[in-house]
Amino acid sequence: MKDDCIFCKIINNEIPSTKVYEDDTVIAFNDINPLAPIHILVVPKIHIENLMELENNELLAHLVEVIKKIAIEQGLDKDGFRVVTNNGENAGQVVKHLHFHILGGKKLEIN
Ligand code: AMP
Ligand code: ZN
Repeated sequence: MKDDCIFCKIINNEIPSTKVYEDDTVIAFNDINPLAPIHILVVPKIHIENLMELENNELLAHLVEVIKKIAIEQGLDKDGFRVVTNNGENAGQVVKHLHFHILGGKKLEIN
C-alpha cells in the first residue's frame, strides 16, 4: 500500500470502483474514462510501479489468467480485444501502479 496511490486506495475500498473481478492478489474494475465500450483495468494488489518492477512470474501468469477469464466473461474472446500496459513517461503512464488495460467491444484503431 502506497499512501498517495489511487489504485491502492481502490484496492483498500477507500475510493469506489466498479469491480468486475477480485481475488487475493488481483482486482479488476471498469476504467473511469473508457476508451472503448469495454475498458477494464486489471491490477495486482501489491504496489508495483510498472512492468519493469514485476519480478514475480507466478503473479504475471496469474494476471494473464485473469485477463483471459474476464475477456471470456465479457464476450470478447470471439471478436478479439487489446491488452495494454503503459510503462513510464513516454508511454504516458499516469497511474504509477502496474495495470493492464483490456479494451474491446468495437473495432479498435491501430495507433
Ligand atoms: P495509464 O496510467 O495511462 O495507463 O492509465 C490510467 C488509467 O486509469 C486511465 O485510463 C484512467 O482513466 C484510469 N483511472 C484513473 N483513475 C481511476 C479511477 N478512480 N477509477 C477507474 N479508473 C481510473
Ligand atoms: Zn498502488
